[in-house]
Amino acid sequence: MRQAARLADAARVGSESRAHLHPSNITRSPALGHTNAVPELPEVEALAAFLRERAVGHFVARIDVAAINVLKTYDPPPTALAGQQVTGAGRYGKFLDLDCDGLHLVIHLARAGWLHWREQLAPAPPKPGKGPIGLRVHLDDGAGFDLTEAGTKKRLAVYLVRDPATVPGVARLGADPLAEDFTVEALSTLLAGARQQLKGLLTDQTVIAGIGNAYSDEILHMAQLSPFKLGAKLPPEELERLHAAIVTTLRDAVARSVGQGAATLKGEKRSGLRVHARTGLPCPVCGDLVREVSFADSSLQYCPTCQTGGSPLADRRLSRLVR
Ligand SMILES: [Zn+2]
Repeated sequence: MRQAARLADAARVGSESRAHLHPSNITRSPALGHTNAVPELPEVEALAAFLRERAVGHFVARIDVAAINVLKTYDPPPTALAGQQVTGAGRYGKFLDLDCDGLHLVIHLARAGWLHWREQLAPAPPKPGKGPIGLRVHLDDGAGFDLTEAGTKKRLAVYLVRDPATVPGVARLGADPLAEDFTVEALSTLLAGARQQLKGLLTDQTVIAGIGNAYSDEILHMAQLSPFKLGAKLPPEELERLHAAIVTTLRDAVARSVGQGAATLKGEKRSGLRVHARTGLPCPVCGDLVREVSFADSSLQYCPTCQTGGSPLADRRLSRLVR
């Protein structure tokens, strides 16, 4: 069934017929064109902002580990957090960091994880191995949060460390696109030696930290660049456009996410997207229909008129299938 949906999807991209791209003909499978928001930099930043406002100053009362595979470290043990004061909350790429007086709870929400804040947490620990809750953090005022993961791919990862840089995923992170030193020159240096295409470069956490499938689609659309363009070959004018699009897209998304109260909303809510997960809908800039290229377990969306000189990109999987 899923294979059939993928074939239909691939055919739709390759088709010249606009009727096939009409919104009413679009069916979304979990793997293709899904609208579930995978947390990226803006959502994680909004969660950090929420925790800075609501959790900092409070003491950790207890931690319940409901799914043992979620906690990736054993020293210090989770019990070490009890009695520690929350002194800060921040972000490294897509990693959320809760600083508890020098003990860091570093959280990677991965594709289907989220942080759910509760003003009143149930005092009883969640049943181990049952349901979506991986870890529960109780604060001294009865509030706290659940770290949850939907679906079957268990990738939610939590690390309790004294130094966030000891988390392997954090140590590998590239430049932070919202840092002051992320200039056009810095971006030029990052792309200079790269052989990847822009879509791959933007989502490579070791090059630029925090951008995933959704915001890379949005950034490339704003920059009016093809996702398949080679990063190392961008002329200065396009490089400047790309830099401006990265910074603007992420800053706007952070502002929106903070405004929505990320931790009290469902993680699936995301607004303001112009092309991502909008296959078959009109581009808000030019009115052309947003198209899709599908991969094994993901897809990208783009506007041909804005980004590729009007011609649709080849769907590689379709080419492979018909060959
Ligand atoms: Zn367009």
